[in-house]
Amino acid sequence: MLKAGFISLGCAKNLVDTEVMLGLLATNQIKLTDNPQEADILIINTCSFIESAKEESITTILQMAEYKKQGNCKCLIVAGCLGQRYQQDLLDELPEVDAIVGTGDWHRIMEAINSTMNDKKRVLLVGETNTIYDETMPRINTTPFYSAYVKVAEGCSNCCSYCVIPKVRGSFRSRKMESIVAEVKNLVANGVKEVNLIAQDTTSYGRDLYGAAKLTDLLKELVKIDGLMWIRLLYCYPKHFSDELIELIATESKICKYIDLPLQHANDIILKSMLRQDSRKDIENLLNTLRSKIPGITVRTSFIVGFPGETEAHFEDLRQFVMDQKFDRVGVFTYSQEEDTIAANLPNQVSDEVKQERYHNLMTLQCQISEQLNQELEGTVLDVLIEQVNTEPEIVVSGRSYREAPDVDGQIYVEKATNCRPGDVIKVKIVQGFTYDVVAEKL
Ligand code: SF4
Repeated sequence: MLKAGFISLGCAKNLVDTEVMLGLLATNQIKLTDNPQEADILIINTCSFIESAKEESITTILQMAEYKKQGNCKCLIVAGCLGQRYQQDLLDELPEVDAIVGTGDWHRIMEAINSTMNDKKRVLLVGETNTIYDETMPRINTTPFYSAYVKVAEGCSNCCSYCVIPKVRGSFRSRKMESIVAEVKNLVANGVKEVNLIAQDTTSYGRDLYGAAKLTDLLKELVKIDGLMWIRLLYCYPKHFSDELIELIATESKICKYIDLPLQHANDIILKSMLRQDSRKDIENLLNTLRSKIPGITVRTSFIVGFPGETEAHFEDLRQFVMDQKFDRVGVFTYSQEEDTIAANLPNQVSDEVKQERYHNLMTLQCQISEQLNQELEGTVLDVLIEQVNTEPEIVVSGRSYREAPDVDGQIYVEKATNCRPGDVIKVKIVQGFTYDVVAEKL
C-alpha cells in the first residue's frame, strides 16, 4: 500500500482543500503518514500571497525534495496557490517536483499521482479556477474533533489593489446552501461543536448564486442544527455587512459574538489607493453599530503597513485609529510588492526598513491595548471549550471561549480544572489578563 505525507501551508481555506485531497487519497487506498521519511508520495499544499509565504513554500518543497534522495519518496507534488501562480516556471525551475496541481484542480490529485507513479511523467494540472468542493466529497478533518472549518465560498471578486488572490483562486463562487447545511450536519453528527465559516469574503456569501448576499439565511438554517454550539464568522468584508446580519449575530446564541473584519488601513487616501470599498467614516460607523448592537462583541482585524505612498502622516492616522478603536485582536502585515497586482506598479514604494519600523510600532501599541483589554476582563465568566489537558508535571488545561478563534487568537489557561477532557465545555472566571492569553479558574 502506498503511503503519502502531506504538508498544508497558508490559510484555513487552503487547509480545507488539503483535507479534501486527503479524503481522495484515503478513498484510493493510499495510507497517510506523518513521517516524510517513509512516504512514497509527498504533497505540499502551498501559499503565495506575500513574499514570506512564497519563501516558506519554496523552502518546504526543497526540504521535502531531500526525501527523494534519503527517503522513500518517488513522487513530489506541489498543490495550491504557489503552483497556480507560477505554473510551468515552477516545474521548470524545480526539477525535483513531479507534478503541479492548481487551486481549482485538487480533485485531480490522483491523476497527478498516477502520472508520476505509473507513467513516470511530470505533469502540470492547472486548469480553470472554477471548482468548489461540496458535501459529497470525502474529507478528512485534520482539526481537533470538536472544531472544523467550513468553506462557504471560493475565490474573490473584489479588486483590492495589493491582492493576487482573485488571479490565484478565481472569481467569487458560493456553495449551495443545502450543501453547506448537509456538511455541517454531518460534522456535528461526528462530534464537531464549533464550525468556523470561511471564504475570501464571507459576508458576500450567496451573491453570485442567489443574486443577493444570503449569509443571514444560511446562518438561520445552521442555528437549527442540534448539537452545534458555536458558529464563527471569519474573513468578513466591512462593506457587505447588513443590518439583518448584525441583528442575527446579536440575538442568536449559537453565533459567536466575534467578528474577523480585515480592514487593511484607516487613512482614506490609502484605502482609496488600495481600492477598498469603505472609507474611514464607513468603517467607524460599522464598528459603532457592531459594538452598540452586539454587547460583548470581540473584533479581530488586520492591517497592512508600508503600502505604496503611505507617508508618516498616513501611518500616524492608522496608529491613532488603532488607539481609538481598541480592537481586541490585530494582525499586522508589511506590504508585499506582488507582481500582477495594481499596487506593484504604484509609485512611492516604501523601503523595507520603514515597513519594519511601522510594523513594530503598531504591534507594540496593540500589545499594550490587548493587555489592557485582557485585564479589564478579570472577573468575567465565560464558557470555555477545552483544547488541551496536560497532566505532567502538573495539570494545565487550556481552551477557548467565543472570544478566541482557533489557530490565530490566544488561549485561556484554566486553574483547578480537574476531570476535563478536550472537547468539554466548562464555566470559568477570568482571574488575570496578559497580552495574548488569560488565566481563569474553573467555577
Ligand atoms: S495565497 Fe491566500 S488563499 Fe492561498 S494559501 Fe495563502 S493565504 Fe490562503
